[in-house]
Amino acid sequence: MPSKKKIVLLNPPAWGAIVHRDGYCSSSSKLRYTWHPLDLLLQSGYLQKHHLVVIDAVAEKLSQKKVIQTLRAFEPQVILALVASITVEQDISFLKRISELIPCQIFVSGDFPLFSPARTFDRMPFLQGILTDFTSDALLTYLDQGQKSSQLWLREEPGTEIPRPGPFLSYPLPAHFAFSWQHYSMPFYKQPFASVLFSYGCPFNCFFCNTHLLGYKIRDSGHIIEELCFLKEKGIRNLYIRDATLNGNINKLKTILQAVIASGLKFKWNAFVTPLPCDQELVSLMKDAGCFLVQIGIETGCEEDRVRLGKKITNDAITQTIDMFQTQGIMVSGHFMIGSPFETVAHISETKKFSAQLDLDFISLNITSARPGTVWNQKTNHIQTADSSGNYQISSLSSLDLPTLKKWKRKILVSFYLGKRNVIKTVNRIRTKQDLMQLADNSISFLRSLI
Ligand code: SF4
Repeated sequence: MPSKKKIVLLNPPAWGAIVHRDGYCSSSSKLRYTWHPLDLLLQSGYLQKHHLVVIDAVAEKLSQKKVIQTLRAFEPQVILALVASITVEQDISFLKRISELIPCQIFVSGDFPLFSPARTFDRMPFLQGILTDFTSDALLTYLDQGQKSSQLWLREEPGTEIPRPGPFLSYPLPAHFAFSWQHYSMPFYKQPFASVLFSYGCPFNCFFCNTHLLGYKIRDSGHIIEELCFLKEKGIRNLYIRDATLNGNINKLKTILQAVIASGLKFKWNAFVTPLPCDQELVSLMKDAGCFLVQIGIETGCEEDRVRLGKKITNDAITQTIDMFQTQGIMVSGHFMIGSPFETVAHISETKKFSAQLDLDFISLNITSARPGTVWNQKTNHIQTADSSGNYQISSLSSLDLPTLKKWKRKILVSFYLGKRNVIKTVNRIRTKQDLMQLADNSISFLRSLI
């Protein structure tokens, strides 16, 4: 057994905002909610045999000074840090400072390093390596045995091709409780909740998205049930299933859901899905397994643009899928985007119309960004590029400028959330004092996001 190392899993401080740097998809929080940084969570399962400390400076609202004090006191030999495209300049300068103050090996994970490895090594001469699959044991085997693999690009042997994973996702039980539970919250349910993963990557090919570039692998139901049993024993009742697309393989998903139902474990959970593939059997299984909310990527109200974005799904099919979920009592949040290069004002109006026409429970609207790894990103020279939430966007991909897109965003959100139908629905959802407090909190954040 190799000697134990002191290892820190670090989500660096942001600029006072809540940013998400995990899952190779960086964004800022719209309603000030935050979840467990997935890359670090999954790596904690492998690395907990060492002396492990988790510092999530975003969730815990820690300053750079405080983080450095903690690091100095612990004297880590290894740091695995998140670096994201929306905070890349700040992340690089903070890690540089750490490298000057604390002698240790530094590794990173995130969308910027994965999709721009040459620039990452160039800008970070102190960097040892880049983790290219945060579900893998590559960092552990390198630290314990010096074993090299394509899931960990080292400075001396930098890779360029993102490794395609095999069909099976497997990871050990994460050190869930090394993360401070009280700091993570979601607008939909009461704390605490756990983040779990059923699948990694995505089998589809949406043009604007980089998740499919990771390949796709799915977890065995036995492993999932093991993790759920552990979480249940610890008193967790709410789950955020963190798959980019839960229904990437509906037959396998049905098998997993049947196993969850058969286990008798009762959780309340939400997940992202794509409108198709979906059928009645899947929706019933999801309901019986505890799903209360799905977040559906609709993207646009214009069918022609949706095809251009790589989603060949009609408005009728989307309407049917939403109807199936709502008939089963599962709430639906529709996710839209505006500002794609080919989108016209008329098409944005179609999105506004379609989002109002669908009987959605919530909507989320992003301004299209050049996500790292996508063709749109390759055309830009900016190093800081994407914020899929649109709050800290620095450029527009569309012929419409950013202020115009923001005006449209406000218009669509206000017309949905302050529309009579939504106000009635929202009031009807209030059952307890806590629901009321949560609504007040979300409303304040929503109004702030409009400014
Ligand atoms: S279905 Fe979702 S996760 Fe998959 S490629 Fe499309 S947008 Fe990305």
